[in-house]
Amino acid sequence: MPEAYLQTLTHQSDVTYPLFNPHTREKIMDIPECSNQQMEEAIEKSKQAFSKMKALSSAERSMILEQTSKFIKENKEEFARIITLESGKPIRLSRSEVERTIETLYFASLEARKLEGESIRMDAATNGGGRDAYTVFQPIGIVGAITPFNFPLNLVAHKVGPALAVGNAIIVKPAEKTPLSAIKLAEAFKKAGLPEDAYQVITGEGPRLGKVLIDHPDVAKLTFTGSPQVGELIKSQAGLKKVTLELGNNSALYIDRSVRGKLGEIAGKAVAGAFAYNGQVCISTQRIYVHEDVSEEFLTHFKRAAESLSYGDPNDETTDLSGVIDGKSQDRIVNWISEAVRDGSELVTGGNKFENGLQPTILKNVPASSKISCQEVFGPVVLVNTVQDADAALAAMNDSQYGLNAGAFTYDLPQAFKLAHELEVGQVLINDVPTLRFDHMPYGGLKSSGYGYEGIKYAMREMVHMKFISMNYT
Ligand code: NAD
Repeated sequence: MPEAYLQTLTHQSDVTYPLFNPHTREKIMDIPECSNQQMEEAIEKSKQAFSKMKALSSAERSMILEQTSKFIKENKEEFARIITLESGKPIRLSRSEVERTIETLYFASLEARKLEGESIRMDAATNGGGRDAYTVFQPIGIVGAITPFNFPLNLVAHKVGPALAVGNAIIVKPAEKTPLSAIKLAEAFKKAGLPEDAYQVITGEGPRLGKVLIDHPDVAKLTFTGSPQVGELIKSQAGLKKVTLELGNNSALYIDRSVRGKLGEIAGKAVAGAFAYNGQVCISTQRIYVHEDVSEEFLTHFKRAAESLSYGDPNDETTDLSGVIDGKSQDRIVNWISEAVRDGSELVTGGNKFENGLQPTILKNVPASSKISCQEVFGPVVLVNTVQDADAALAAMNDSQYGLNAGAFTYDLPQAFKLAHELEVGQVLINDVPTLRFDHMPYGGLKSSGYGYEGIKYAMREMVHMKFISMNYT
């Protein structure tokens, strides 16, 4: 019974909201709609938990994170089924999210032992001699985390792992549509011996509960992953509070003529990049620019691969696509496709709703002003435009309000260096699709894609105070 998943939730409520299965749109169960007062109580409990966390050595925190990772490993199929139930993610992808989470928390356990300051040469300054000086990192305190629906386990781990590794306490407000994975994670932390209330989950409405976290003076740090609109709002409300924002993108990929012999293989990777989990991924491949000498051949491979994707129950091993997160999202995506066609784009394949999802959709010759090009689609839709050369691709790729990941397939070495240097994004993937993230790498967006960094080691730096200490020995 799914209701059993709520047993580990410490913050229960008689007021509830319905949780729906995105694929079937049937109700799964009721989820507690926590009150503002419950959020305040959670913050109060976090204060005591923070004292306990500070008292632990880095080795002890590391061992707790390692044990948590092990617990997930031992129960990985259950975690994967929960992700699929609440998010509609095909089971193979849910399993891969669980594998990543195991590694994310393992990286956190390793980094917990390694966070080190540096020694500062004081006599480099004219009158600074006679002192030994160094920096130390101290935990920031209570972290408020707000997470999105699309990776309900691993993106929670990306906040909780680093927060606990440095000795903070953390409260997670998971996405309303996918709270179960975060709740299940509490069981793993409990079994691993994490001090009580160092990880708390408060379920319910984002704008209301988020505001309590934002406004509360005892919450030292906010870490948010979600849409640029909400991220911007949080930053505008947060005052001097420290914030990390991981936001959206309309990821672009360039395919050069130098990779002519590999177009079939690249089309396969691009199909995964564009359509995995219905494109509901912040770095989903949304815009593909192909050199004119190879564009027709690429499109033939790409269309064939897209049309071979199967739609079905996300619990089936062979399913590639299933229902999108909700009806509102489905309507919006279809409207954006229609708008692109009205703007003069050519529909190569797809374009319609299919049950509670959509057909994988490819458009070509899409104007830069169409929403499908310049905003984040977050659906199984990709544009393939032909460009004269890599410089034209670079200009089109950079013509974006976002700047998270970008990719390019090219065997032209000077061109690869130029693209790597000049793409206006946080992460450049040469000879890979932009839909690529490993959990230890630095990860953050430019422009409207974010503020600050994740990737365990880098997230830890954003969850500590750096204290400078000088000892005058004269
Ligand atoms: P969303 O912004 O609608 O919601 C994210 C979270 O914010 C939810 O928990 C929600 O309850 C909460 N929220 C909503 N309004 C709020 C408010 N006013 N104040 C405080 N909290 C509020 O995003 P979503 O639909 O769940 O996720 C999709 C978005 O997330 C996409 O834009 C995607 O690109 C982005 N995303 C980014 C990354 C990244 O690492 N850069 C990763 C995954 C998803």
